[in-house]
Amino acid sequence: MNPFENPNSLFPPDDTAVMVLLVDDQAMIGEAVRRALAEDIGIDFHFCSDPSQAIEVALQIRPTVILQDLVMPDTDGLVLVREYRRNPLTRDIPIIVLSTKEDPLVKSAAFAAGANDYLVKLPDAIELVARVRYHSRSYLALQQRDEAYRALRESQQKLLETNLVLQRLMNSDGLTGLSNRRHFDEYLEMEWRRALRDQSQLSLVLIDVDYFKAFNDTFGHLAGDEALRRVAAAIRESCGRSSDLPARYGGEEFAIILPGTSPGGARLLGEKLRLTIQAMAIRHETPQPGSVLSVSVGVATLTPQAGEGCRRLIEMADRALYNAKRGGRNRLGVVEAPGV
Ligand code: GH3
Ligand code: MG
Ligand code: MG
Repeated sequence: MNPFENPNSLFPPDDTAVMVLLVDDQAMIGEAVRRALAEDIGIDFHFCSDPSQAIEVALQIRPTVILQDLVMPDTDGLVLVREYRRNPLTRDIPIIVLSTKEDPLVKSAAFAAGANDYLVKLPDAIELVARVRYHSRSYLALQQRDEAYRALRESQQKLLETNLVLQRLMNSDGLTGLSNRRHFDEYLEMEWRRALRDQSQLSLVLIDVDYFKAFNDTFGHLAGDEALRRVAAAIRESCGRSSDLPARYGGEEFAIILPGTSPGGARLLGEKLRLTIQAMAIRHETPQPGSVLSVSVGVATLTPQAGEGCRRLIEMADRALYNAKRGGRNRLGVVEAPGV
């Protein structure tokens, strides 16, 4: 109904749906309140004369405000008020208690039980509608705020998860799932600075698949990819500590950053890895028919000194790898830094 066509309307309608639940044992009160509220459009009214049904009815009709009688046969209205407050589904619904008299003791007991407002029966229609609207509006605003907050938290959580997935994708190599070169560079730089601060040992292991060009030429590029995935899995498995970082350094070359690891520890890990890959017995026809796929490993360790960069460690590991290749492949090369 248009408010301008209805001279009885006390308030302009708004888009909030007001639902009043009156709990009172007296049908006469129910009728009087119904009439008072009927003067105003946009207010739905439900009357419950059986207090034992009050909670159930409230859960069903989801009122935006409850008008609660205090004195009813067999039931104390305040007990009901406390019950509304205990139930998570009715906890926030505003409650206006309807009392028969203006009594400070009853009033303070009502507020202590959790009532939001106190009216002496029967208030005039203007006051009743004003209070019903006021409490309903604040309840609905609270609901909307909670809902918006919940939606915000949900979308923040989703964003966080998406960022984590993106981060993982950005850092990892598509073929093997190991860290990619970009992440390797970042991590090495970070661990280098940490080792410089702590004066701890930082080891780097470089791994290069032997005669891999020939492997591709013999078995095809797809088989080559599969072999790289299997080598990568062995490299990942060889990393025992969460701070160890296995990476695809490029092509058929891999690397493992080993923070806080001595030359002996790095050498042991490199040698075990070499043996593991050999034991996987991936058939190869190079250097001779009946060979198996193998890797050459270069190991270097440094305690960083001020003024030098992590490039020095990469160059050492590169030289160690070169030595392993020149020494005949499928072996470990080590370059020791003086005083490590
Ligand atoms: P060496 O024993 O001296 O290391 O010889 P090599 O043949 O392994 O070394 P070379 O650098 O000559 O060849 C590397 C080969 O690795 C060539 C290249 O096609 C292949 N390769 C690099 N990346 C991939 C890849 O992602 N998949 C496949 N299948 N092959 C790759
Ligand atoms: Mg190579
Ligand atoms: Mg190679």
